[in-house]
Amino acid sequence: MGDLSENLSRKEFECECGCKFDTVDFELVNILQDTIQHFTKEYKTRIYCIITGGNRCVQHNEKIQLLYNRDYIPFSSNSQHIYARAADFKLYKNKIKKENQISSVEIYEYLYIKYPNKYGIGWYINRNHLDTRSGQFARWGR
Ligand SMILES: [Zn+2]
Ligand SMILES: [Zn+2]
Repeated sequence: MGDLSENLSRKEFECECGCKFDTVDFELVNILQDTIQHFTKEYKTRIYCIITGGNRCVQHNEKIQLLYNRDYIPFSSNSQHIYARAADFKLYKNKIKKENQISSVEIYEYLYIKYPNKYGIGWYINRNHLDTRSGQFARWGR
């Protein structure tokens, strides 16, 4: 039992730099919880959600952007992780083991169909990104 929803806790969204930035968008939590519920029904087993990236304070985001993008212009990031409305996550069936991970493409397809013209939805090799941005929606893969 999480303290935000059945499966999710505030702690999991906290910025990893140690600054204690842990306020998180309620809509984001709801969509993630709904996604967990969907796959619980689909696979008739317990689903575990691991948040691999939640909130980022501006300083920590700068560090990450500079680390992954050599051409990054300082303070030019529009990452939704800064606004406490984005999460990178993985879902597992039954047990948290590599072979039990639900494919990121499968999760992407579920979100893509369920929320047309809304949000930021992306997939990477072994995780997904979801954010509740307002205005223009965004989609990406790999
Ligand atoms: Zn921080
Ligand atoms: Zn992300």
